[in-house]
Amino acid sequence: MTKALVLFSGGQDSTTCLAWALEKYDEVTALTFDYGQRHRVEILQSYKVAELAGVKHDVMKIDLFSKMSKNALTHDVEIDPGGNGNLPSTFVPGRNLLFLSLATIKAYQLGMSDVITGVCQTDYSGYPDCRDDFIQSLQKSCSLALDKEMTIHTPLMFMTKAETVEMINKHGKLDWLAESHTCYEGQRPACAKCPACLLRLKGFAEAGMKDPLPYL
Ligand SMILES: [Zn+2]
Repeated sequence: MTKALVLFSGGQDSTTCLAWALEKYDEVTALTFDYGQRHRVEILQSYKVAELAGVKHDVMKIDLFSKMSKNALTHDVEIDPGGNGNLPSTFVPGRNLLFLSLATIKAYQLGMSDVITGVCQTDYSGYPDCRDDFIQSLQKSCSLALDKEMTIHTPLMFMTKAETVEMINKHGKLDWLAESHTCYEGQRPACAKCPACLLRLKGFAEAGMKDPLPYL
């Protein structure tokens, strides 16, 4: 029996990874981190998508990020898309470093050696810990730390947002995206204006498909 752990935020990309994993593995567990997100709706929606997917869902609370850094996801800071050498204000330093390390430890405890994450280098929004180099390096570090060959799968790494839309559609789970959460403003219906909503809408437009998520 094959088993895998999906790092699951309840967003579009990790929802797509859940659909991908369910075709590939016999048993899938979703792991969500409650890291003090300003918008609690993210956690709520993660429960809804996990229920739709019919997977085991583990929500782990870690409150380190809200204490260590002031960013737009954990604090009331203006959303700034960055650019010109500046990182976006939504960047949470070290988030994937910690999340993926913890997910790998959790997978190890569950007797799994496969962890899946929806990080993407193509549309990486300037986040350095979404790059393939970093993932390869962390996979090696985690394997050494646990003395077990761990694999961090990144099925979306080199895809455009349009291709990820096509991917979940191909798996027949496009409707799950109605419950996924993307909006940086925490709005449902989504605001359609923040950088996250704009990136998501652009992907659907390029794929020539309609997003099942309601927008304002
Ligand atoms: Zn938005």
